[in-house]
Amino acid sequence: MVQLQRPAYAYMNGQLTPWDDAKIHVGAEALIRGVSVFEGIKGYWKHDGSVLNLLALRAHYERLVRSTRFLYLPFTVTYEEFEASCRTLVRELMVPDRDLWLRTTVFAVEGYWGEQTVTDLVITCYNQDKKRPEPMDIGISTWQRAGDVALPARIKSAANYQMSRLARIEGRRQGYDDMILLNAFGRVSEATGSCVLMVRNGRVVTLPATEGCLESITVNIVEILCLRLGIAFERRPVDRTELTVADEICLAGTLMELGRVRNLESRPLPATTPVLDRISDEFWRIVRGELSDPAVTLTPV
Ligand code: PMP
Repeated sequence: MVQLQRPAYAYMNGQLTPWDDAKIHVGAEALIRGVSVFEGIKGYWKHDGSVLNLLALRAHYERLVRSTRFLYLPFTVTYEEFEASCRTLVRELMVPDRDLWLRTTVFAVEGYWGEQTVTDLVITCYNQDKKRPEPMDIGISTWQRAGDVALPARIKSAANYQMSRLARIEGRRQGYDDMILLNAFGRVSEATGSCVLMVRNGRVVTLPATEGCLESITVNIVEILCLRLGIAFERRPVDRTELTVADEICLAGTLMELGRVRNLESRPLPATTPVLDRISDEFWRIVRGELSDPAVTLTPV
């Protein structure tokens, strides 16, 4: 059974709100038509425990703004206000020795088919163990990622997660930890809540957003790390069969971090992941503040 956390507070209507009072009306378009967009943001304690940093906060804010713009959601919160709101909640809920995951959601709390829309920025925050992801067994779902003219993957809207949810249910029944969804052309798009990276002949390959995946902030960080480490990095379409013959595979995302794939559809991958290990070690050194890179920003709380 999943243990759902019930933090003491959420942030809504511009203020800290006790968890049990953080409610949205049944008439809200956010519920009736699933109109909301969101970001997941990670908070990492520095290696010496001196400060908790939010990773790539501005990049998340900017993608949130892009999502609101696409769905005609009025959203006037500035970056400074957004940062201050996150900080207010995190300061209340952070505990030593546990990292954090923030969900910042813009809900359409009022409106009718895009008219008279009113939004609210709601933030929830959950504690997380400070550990790297375990290797995973992954399947390929019978459900497809919708195309750009249906539910655009570039936008991080709650409605996009219907197929991810079905894919997870499907995968759980088959004993898989997560599932990869293909696009309408039968090529790899993304996993249920993360992007796909593979290594072939020492090169890191990932999908462009045009294959039906989110413009991932974690993948952008991996691109920077590859540059630092002198590892070739490319974005191009990947057939399902090419993925099954990859040398190394991992899933990449804010919450997933860099999760190594051990088996793909019950086919074991090679036991060692030399390229991904180098990237992953560098990633952890940066998010824990042991190394810095001007292109990867950490915002202290
Ligand atoms: N795809 C989906 C469907 C996701 O939910 C996520 C997580 N936000 C990602 C990819 C990875 O994106 P990011 O690295 O920006 O978290």
